[in-house]
Amino acid sequence: MNTETTKCLIAGSGPAGYTAAIYASRAGLKPILYEGILPGGQLTTTTEVENFPGYPNGVTGTELMEDIRNQALRFGADIRVGTITEVDFSNRPFRITIDDENTIEAETVIIATGASAKYLGLPSEDKFKGQGVSACATCDGFFYRGKDVAVVGGGDTACEEASYLAGLCNKVYLIVRRDVLRASKAMQNRVQRMANIEIIWKHQTKEVLGDENGVTGALLVGKDGVEKTITIDGFFLAIGHQPNSDPFKKYVETDEAGYIITHGKSTRTNVPGVFAAGDVQDSHYRQGITSAATGCMAALDAESFIVDNPIQ
Ligand code: NDP
Repeated sequence: MNTETTKCLIAGSGPAGYTAAIYASRAGLKPILYEGILPGGQLTTTTEVENFPGYPNGVTGTELMEDIRNQALRFGADIRVGTITEVDFSNRPFRITIDDENTIEAETVIIATGASAKYLGLPSEDKFKGQGVSACATCDGFFYRGKDVAVVGGGDTACEEASYLAGLCNKVYLIVRRDVLRASKAMQNRVQRMANIEIIWKHQTKEVLGDENGVTGALLVGKDGVEKTITIDGFFLAIGHQPNSDPFKKYVETDEAGYIITHGKSTRTNVPGVFAAGDVQDSHYRQGITSAATGCMAALDAESFIVDNPIQ
């Protein structure tokens, strides 16, 4: 049986993957894109997106991703259901296994598998996702203007999100499980300077409270075992992200947290012909628009790589 081949295989279907598919299709690479376990990516887990350029009246995350997907389809991208489970990047063409079953050979690979926000794992947290529970203050903070919210976490993301929310909300509780912040000194100072941020030290969340309209509060428990309830409308998680780089790590260099390392002002990885775009290589900006932009870069990088490195 002949193995299927492609000039460009794209793994992942967030703004980075779909944008890479638009550019690669228009460049005649006939890309094949596998959507992965969450078609449309993290944006499909948020409600309204108001900061993606081109949508003056806002758009839902799902609609936005459908629009970018349809744009890729219009130029002939072959978008398929399936997840990359294993790769062999030791030689070109690269061999990629889908769902532990099918193998495909690709001249170039664009990894755009994104990152997943970590959650606490409480059933009540799951229940109110999109109804007051969010893992993205920049996406959803605006809806809590003038209200009281909580942020969980003590790292740079938690402090950044708490400061962002403090500019919009009446009050922000920062729930920290230890008696110190992991965040950089500058970030700690920023949080401590803001009068409407109250840090609740040495507390964990036991339950997110709510009713049919969404979140109404959180039940916290201190290190001493004493419980307390706070009244809030929004509950933001900022306890880190997990880049979805596992299937590629045998060949592709990552940093300690698992983010794929790209070189210079490009999407090149340490494996010539393998490129990375979006949140799987970005622990810092993590926005839909920056993700889309690196997807574009990856397709342009793949296109010029194929021209310079033809397979005989
Ligand atoms: P981090 O891993 O740095 O911090 C995670 C935080 O969440 C820690 O305070 C941790 O507590 C807490 N936490 C983890 N699990 C739980 C849990 N189950 N319950 C309660 N709290 C929990 O992640 P970040 O996303 O903050 O940062 C990731 C990287 O990105 C870092 O290198 C950071 O410096 C960088 N970054 C830089 C920014 C900037 O410079 N502007 C902005 C944002 C991120 P504990 O400390 O006890 O482990």
